[in-house]
Amino acid sequence: MSEVRPVPLNLRNSRILPIRFEYYEPTSLDEALELLDKLGEEAKVLAGGTDLIVKMKMRALEPKHLINLKRIPNLNYIVSDSESIRIGALTTWSDLEKSDIVKNELPALYDAVKAMGSLQIRNMATLGGNICNASPAADSAPPLLVYDAKVKVVSKQGVRVIPLTEFFLGPGVTALRSNEVLTEVVIDKHNVSVGSAFVKISRVATDLAIASAAVMIKLKDGILEDVKIALGSVAPTPVRAKSLEAALVGRPAKLEEVKQYLNLLEKDIKPIDDVRGTAWYRREVSKVLVYDAFLKALNRLGGCSL
Ligand SMILES: Cc1cc2nc3c(=O)[nH]c(=O)nc-3n(C[C@H](O)[C@H](O)[C@H](O)COP(=O)(O)OP(=O)(O)OC[C@H]3O[C@@H](n4cnc5c(N)ncnc54)[C@H](O)[C@@H]3O)c2cc1C
Repeated sequence: MSEVRPVPLNLRNSRILPIRFEYYEPTSLDEALELLDKLGEEAKVLAGGTDLIVKMKMRALEPKHLINLKRIPNLNYIVSDSESIRIGALTTWSDLEKSDIVKNELPALYDAVKAMGSLQIRNMATLGGNICNASPAADSAPPLLVYDAKVKVVSKQGVRVIPLTEFFLGPGVTALRSNEVLTEVVIDKHNVSVGSAFVKISRVATDLAIASAAVMIKLKDGILEDVKIALGSVAPTPVRAKSLEAALVGRPAKLEEVKQYLNLLEKDIKPIDDVRGTAWYRREVSKVLVYDAFLKALNRLGGCSL
């Protein structure tokens, strides 16, 4: 019989939070920013808690102060005007799922919503939390990267608007300063196309991605006029596949063309072995996912050509 070894305390997602912390519930953004400024690096903001509380239970994080953002009004919205689509940081995945704007105007993000977690997780988890947690596997990242999204971050010192391509710095590391709150995701409508899609492969339906891919294409007379490709779980951060994008722009919008250049993906990704999959598997499946996302995106533009 194989030996049953005890799981080390710091690897257990137990029901007990084994640390002491001060808890705050600001009711305005100003109040939250004031607290963050005063409490510094020892403070963490809490949104849905579906990443943060898990990390605290596993003692991967031990903040001395927890600042819950959920009582701050006006950070949960999805609005679309002639120029842009703006999504508040506290918008939950369930809110995204119910939104006609997301469904009709941002199909790749909508695909990601449908592939994310369970209903319970989608009800609690926020878009801002998914971005700030900065997992290479974050499902919102590839769609937002192909839409060239920007994030608005606010502190007592002012506002910064950061392109998402510059926001992710490493696993769990972002350009966010300790006194800043992400308040909004902004997507310029020029960067959006109905010809966009996201696909993901995971061990079970509610798991993080082994690998994921999003594609956004614009066509002119059957030619790929604009191509954006992004992948998740195949590098230290979610990444754009710039080499493949560059090869495909100006080529006929045919799957045979896409297939011919897929090996270029290897220039843009750096997969690793972990509990979810091997580097080799990730490298190979990335090509299939990008191919599938292209097929889905082309179909959304009115039909694909082999
Ligand atoms: C069972 C389970 C299944 C999951 N499945 C998936 C999945 O399929 N796909 C996927 O992508 N993720 C998945 N996740 C991870 C998680 O649910 C998401 O990343 C979620 O969107 C995190 O949002 P949250 O509001 O819960 O963030 P929190 O846990 O509250 O915060 C996460 C991090 O972001 C920071 N933060 C949060 N909001 C802000 C803000 N506005 N400004 C600055 N910092 C902020 C927090 O300080 C913390 O460091 C899963 C988690 C669990 C437990």
